[in-house]
Parts: sequence; structure tokens; C-alpha cells
Amino acid sequence: MTEDSVVWLEEVGKEDIAIVGGKGASLGEMLRAELPVPTGFAVTAQAFRRFIDETGINDELFGSLEVDVDNADILRNAEKKAKKIIMDAKMPLDIENSIRSKYREMCKKENEEVFVAVRSSATAEDLPDASFAGQQDTFLNMRGEQNIIDAVKKCWASLYGARAIYYRVKQGFDHRKVNLCAVVQMMVDAEKAGVMFSSHPSSGEPLTIIEGAWGLGETVVSGSVSPDYYMVDRNSKTIKERKVATKNIMHTKDPKTGKTIDLPVPSDKKNAKVLDDDEILKLVEFGELLEDLYGIPQDIEWAIKNKEIFILQSRPITTIKKKEPKEKAATTAILEGLGASPGIAYGQAKLIVDSSELGKVKDGDILVAVMTTPDMVPAMKRAAAIVTDEGGLTCHAAIVSRELGCPAVVGTRKATEILTDGMKITVDGEKGLVFEGKKEIAVPEAAQKEKSVISFAKSKPVTATEVKVNVSIPEATARAVETQADGVGLLRIEHMILGLPKHPKQYIKEGKADEYVEELVSRIQTVVDAFYPKPVWVRTLDAPTDEFRAMEGGEGEPIEPNPMLGYRGIRRDLIDTEHFELEVRAFKELIKRGYNNMGIMIPLVQHPSELRRAKEFMRNNGLDIDKIDIGIMVEIPAAALIIDQFLAEGLNFVSFGTNDLTQYTLAVDRNNEHVAHLYNELHPAIMKLIEHVIIECNKAGVKTSICGQAGSNPRVAKRLVELGITSISANIDAVETVRDMVARTEMQLLLKGAREKKNS
Ligand code: PEP
Ligand code: MG
Repeated sequence: MTEDSVVWLEEVGKEDIAIVGGKGASLGEMLRAELPVPTGFAVTAQAFRRFIDETGINDELFGSLEVDVDNADILRNAEKKAKKIIMDAKMPLDIENSIRSKYREMCKKENEEVFVAVRSSATAEDLPDASFAGQQDTFLNMRGEQNIIDAVKKCWASLYGARAIYYRVKQGFDHRKVNLCAVVQMMVDAEKAGVMFSSHPSSGEPLTIIEGAWGLGETVVSGSVSPDYYMVDRNSKTIKERKVATKNIMHTKDPKTGKTIDLPVPSDKKNAKVLDDDEILKLVEFGELLEDLYGIPQDIEWAIKNKEIFILQSRPITTIKKKEPKEKAATTAILEGLGASPGIAYGQAKLIVDSSELGKVKDGDILVAVMTTPDMVPAMKRAAAIVTDEGGLTCHAAIVSRELGCPAVVGTRKATEILTDGMKITVDGEKGLVFEGKKEIAVPEAAQKEKSVISFAKSKPVTATEVKVNVSIPEATARAVETQADGVGLLRIEHMILGLPKHPKQYIKEGKADEYVEELVSRIQTVVDAFYPKPVWVRTLDAPTDEFRAMEGGEGEPIEPNPMLGYRGIRRDLIDTEHFELEVRAFKELIKRGYNNMGIMIPLVQHPSELRRAKEFMRNNGLDIDKIDIGIMVEIPAAALIIDQFLAEGLNFVSFGTNDLTQYTLAVDRNNEHVAHLYNELHPAIMKLIEHVIIECNKAGVKTSICGQAGSNPRVAKRLVELGITSISANIDAVETVRDMVARTEMQLLLKGAREKKNS
């Protein structure tokens, strides 16, 4: 092999890992085998080493990495310092000139200034095949000589990202011995792209698994969309399984700026299948070729443009299970937390530090994170269970897991410390326990239902008290409908908004308010349509500032000492009327489309004037509120205590938000695992507030309901029926048990009444 610092990919092959890293060597090998790999060149690991030696930054750079990596602040500072050292140093002129000349040659062949991807391919001197996948950066859609030189330097700098430094220290790698090759490769402006396993990734059977989505493949690799799923039997060349997902966003090149951007998927493509049968079978052929070339099953990244297939990367599948010796049985729990979503799951732990790693979570893995965020939902759907450090029973992870039917343990405090990537664990979402290894746990029949499939085959008792269901993410609609609930007692729109590619303010800033309203309409419509004509109470925005701040364009969200007591609920909408107005537009559009089953619920009211102002605002903005049910959530003790004054303002229903009512009555932050032991929805003070409201509402002929977590507890449901509540809205997994309890309690009340009458 050549001593050159910059080499064409065609010039390298699988023996050159020490020069161009695993990725570069594999691309070269595939080009040699005449597979359709986009061409390009590699700035070798030795060029990187020369850069460090010749610029004299050696001691300063490696000195800056000698820090306590367990201290997050210190680690972040080390990253900053090391990256600055790299970016400030000048690349040796001959390397720079070679990059320029190779790029010019690529442009000449294409007759235009081409777009390229600059990818990192790391390698360790004494361990050439060490996998550092995903720890360094990739830069897509780069164009122009200088931009490419800068991107190569940024790739080099990414070798000193906090996560990469931490990983090397913990795995015992010497920073000085890890080098980085930057691969500069022609960009495929993919119409569709994804990943493929040439053989089944866990059993190794001859079954090819393909996942694909619209646009560039990063959405699939990072797990930020739910891709289509295809399974092909390689022996018979038949497509065994085809699951077409709803694909909301696509990663694509902005034709104006050339930058990579996220765009909403056009509505006609959202639910359309990404691959036709020919494309699927052609991909399978490439998978087989690659498996033959390397002699082992491959994990492949592919892209398609104008019907032409490109192979972007291929590496061995590392997850195929060898026949393992009988696993040691798990005994005592290694972690304890809150059982947030029932069910038992066994699988490999996958630690997610930031969203770029979501692609690590494959079907059946256990997602472990400090806390889940809305961009994790597609990965949560693939996960067999979820374990978090933080959170209480009503945190994001808990709510979404329950809707997805995925066992979850939250608030363990130290899951991300104790669990390691790839560790096999058993999660008991009922008891809130995590075990190392496989633990045989007797699972009650009801909890054995497969994720996402709830069987409600047994006949449903008719109840006078309506039993409804809560929905937060549109993906849960089908499961919610399967419960045969009497409607939706709470539709949380903020979870739907958090699933959008950017913050509402960003849409407004870009002059795309109409697009935002349409997104809102289509997501709400999924639910009101699926339940039609049963009522769906749509709640106006109750945005937690801390979660909204993490969205693109969300920087303006206020930083609050305690977001739970802050800028959320109706108080926010009454200040940020620009957003409230867009919500009202969405409601009007839904009514125009004929959804007269929609009611509107106002969250977090603390004074009747808020109800009055909200109604006035909706009316002034053209919503005919006399034709729809308007209600409030009772979540603040103040609202419960002066419910008569709210009733005097005029409303159709109230619903108890016990998640908040509990935290505000007991002074226990619902998301704070340190005080979770004090969080008690059955506290007599809360029951007293609820009782008072039901009595007052019943006198006034106003409907009462509950949509907080307490409504999913059959004991609470029993008590509420006895108090005369009109409906109960439970989590998807609890509807059946709550309905049984409601039916039984009603029968008992009837019996009791009949006996009393007889005896009088
Ligand atoms: C509640 O507070 O009980 C409720 C249902 O609202 P959220 O959990 O969204 O605050
Ligand atoms: Mg609430």
C-alpha cells in the first residue's frame, strides 16, 4: 500500500484498516469488487498523525486529555480545549494540496462542483479493528475545497468529543495511539435510504431485514423516524413481512443552500411504502454479495436515487447470538425504581447519552437513559423495555411507555451508572426492579399480552359511568381504540407538538404558521377520527418549558427554577396568544372537517378569570364555543376549593388532573425521584378536594371526570364511582381493569340500594 497521505478509495482494501480505518477499508474493498459504492478518497490515519507531529501540538493536545472523565464539567472543558487545539493548528500544506487536487478531480469528472460527505473512520495503532463507530462526526453535503478542508479538520477534532474521550479512558485505550482517517465520498442525494442486515441480526438465520425511510439514511441510523420494515426469506426469495410505518420527517438537501435539513414528509408519502418488491429483492442480492465478499453476515447502509442502488457502508453484524452456555440465573435486583409500565422484558441494555445514538436501540433491546425525551419515541417503540435514572410515575418516559405498552422502570437514580452497553438484563415494570441476566418471573396472564397487541376479546361490561382512555402520542391511537373505551378523556397535544421537527416559534419565524397548524390538525385528527363519534377532549397546550427548550428553535423558552410551578398550562397561552391563536385555528379546521365529537379542555386553571379569558379569546377568534363542550382540569387545589365560582362562569365538564393535583396539594414535585415516596394520590386531602368538586358539579349538572394517573387505579375508580363521577379516563393498559371495577361497583351500589329499599 502507498505511503501517500491522501488516497483514492479504489486504492485501498480490507488489509488497510490501519491506514484508512474500518470504514475506509470496507469502502475500498467494495469498490474493488465493483459494488455500487460512491467514489471518493481518504485522508489517511498517517496524515492525521503527521498533522499532530508536524504542528507540534502533541504534548498540549494529549496533556489536555489527562482529566477526571467522571466529572462532566471537566470532561466538557477538556473536549473544548482539545478541539480548539486541532482547529487552530494549520494542516501541513502537502496534505491540504492533495485534498484539494483529489476533490478537483472528482468535480472534473462530474462537470460540476460536487457535494461530498466527510466521514470519520477511526483506528487504533495496536488494535486495528477496534470499533469506535458512531463516536466521531460525519459532515454531509459539503461542497467547495475550503469547506472540505475544514470538514476534515472537524472530523479530526471529533476524535476528542467528550463521549469519545470517556469511552477510550474507560476501555483502556491510549489517546495517543488512536488515529483518525477522514473519508471524503461523493454524496448520494438519496430519495430513500436505510439499513439492511444480510442475515437475521440476532439468530443469524438466512432472513434479510431491511429498514427504509424517505430522504437520507441518517433518520434511520439515528432512529429519529420509524422506518418501514421488510423481512425476506433468502432461500425462497419471498418477502415474509412488510410493515409500513408513518414517516413524519425526512433528512434532505436544501436545494437552495445545499445544507442538510429536516423536512416534513409530504402527506402522500407519509404512509406510503418506501420500497417496491423489485427494490427489496435487489437489495437482498447486494446483501448476499456483501456477505460472500466478507464471509460473514453484514450490517449495510444503502441509498436509492433514480432507481439506482448505492451501498454506503458495510460492516459485520456483531449481535448474532452464538450458542451460549446456559445463562446464569439472575437472583437479586441490581436496580430498584418505580414500576411505571407493567410487563417483564429480557434483553440487552443500550445506553443512550444523546439522541444521535438512538440507532443503537434495535428491536428487543432495553433502552437505558437518564430520562427519555420526545425524540426518543421511535426508539422507545423498538425497545422491549425502558429504564431511566430520573422521573416519577407521571414523567415522559412513564406516560409514553404505558401508551406503547412497553415495560418501564423509572427513577432508579443510577441505571446509566450501573448498567453497561450490551449487558443482558431483565426488567420487571410491575415491581420496578432490574436484574442482571435472565430472571424467570411468573407473569400474570393479563400482563403477558404482547406489546402493541391488546386483546379485548372478552365481552365488555356496559357501565353507566363512562370509561375512557388517555392518549398522548398519535402512534398509540390504534391501541387506544382497541380498548373499546367510551372516548378519550385527555388528548395531550404537547406530546404531539414535541414530536414535530421544530419548535412552534420556529415555524412562525419562518413564516410557516399554516404548515404548523396543518401538522397540529393532522395529528389531532388521527385521534378524533379514530374515535368518531365518541367524544375526544382535546387539551390546549400544557407545555413544559424544559422539554420545549430542547427542540430546534426552542432556545427562547424561559429557564425556570421550577418548571412545574411555572410557565405552562393556560397561563402560558394567555400570555403567548400568538400560539393560542394557532391552536384555535386548528380546532376550527377540525370542526370544519366535521369533527363535532371534539371537546376542549383547559389545563392548570387557578382562577375563574382564566377560564373567562380563555373562552373570550376562543370566541373572539371565531370558534363557536357554544357548539362544543368546554371544560377545565382541576389540578390546583385553588380550583377545587372555589369550584362554585368556575361553575358560575359556565362550563360543560371538569376533569381531575391528579398528577398535578397531588404534587400541588402535597408539595411533592412529581418528577423528583428523591421525594417519590411521598407522592400519594390516595392522600385523604386529595380525596377531600375531589369529593367536594363532584358534589358541587353534580348539583350544577356539570360532568366530572378524571384523567390523572390515579384514575387508572381500580381502588380510586371504585371510590370515584361511589362519589358519583360521570366518567373515568384511564391509561390504555388500565382501561379493562378499571372498567371491570366500575361495573362491579355500580352493581354493588344498585344491590345496596335495592336492599335498603326492601328493608325500609
Ligand atoms: C394531570 O396533571 O393529572 C394530568 C393528566 O395532566 P399532565 O399529566 O399532562 O400534567
Ligand atoms: Mg397536569
